[in-house]
Amino acid sequence: MALLNEIDAKQLLHDAGVPVTQTVLATDLAEAKRQADSVGYPVVLKIVSPDITHKSDVGGVKVGLEDESQVAAAYEEILTNARNAEPDAEITGVAVQHMAPSGTEIIVGMTTDPQFGPVIMFGLGGIMVEVLKDVTFRVVPLEERDAEQMIDEIKGKAILDGVRGQPPADKAAIRDAILSVSKFVEANPAVKELDLNPMMVYPDGAIAVDARIVTAD
Ligand code: ADP
Ligand code: MG
Repeated sequence: MALLNEIDAKQLLHDAGVPVTQTVLATDLAEAKRQADSVGYPVVLKIVSPDITHKSDVGGVKVGLEDESQVAAAYEEILTNARNAEPDAEITGVAVQHMAPSGTEIIVGMTTDPQFGPVIMFGLGGIMVEVLKDVTFRVVPLEERDAEQMIDEIKGKAILDGVRGQPPADKAAIRDAILSVSKFVEANPAVKELDLNPMMVYPDGAIAVDARIVTAD
């Protein structure tokens, strides 16, 4: 099994029609600053390593960077944190990406079931999935109706409808992302696992800010 890094995973997903934040690799600070300018502030910096799956757990994610000096500080801090937490990890570099406005966080994922093959997962992000396990599954390939049912059957669906004065989330954008992931994994049988965790959803549109793909060797 091979883990594609966030940059490569986002590139493939982008090509498959899934909206993702523009993300590029920097291998030194000068490059990180140039790329921050080109993707546009505010930016997010993250560790890129084949040996680190949960980037925030090692202090490898810095969000809301507004200028060059914040980029410089975050760049050094991320490398130091990663080396302290995982001294043996191979470090590819630092991903520089545009910071998406905050929205309702959802997760779209895919795992390979020994019996059913590729299965798509959908749920709300954060504690909704980690603590409450409020997720739903469908076997690939999915049709429009399947994706719509998934969005409708999670317990937290009221959150997508808009609560306490929050505007509703764009369910068509969620449906399209689910269907694009289904098509992508159907067309690429080497893909064994995939996670968009999270995707930000807005009243109009949605965008994946983190992506992970595991392929067969
Ligand atoms: P991890 O490997 O820990 O899952 P993520 O890439 O998901 O790292 O980043 C952690 C959190 O930071 C995300 O859940 C999201 O809330 C926020 N985040 C990450 N990237 C972005 C981005 N480009 N724009 C906005 N928020 C982001
Ligand atoms: Mg994540």
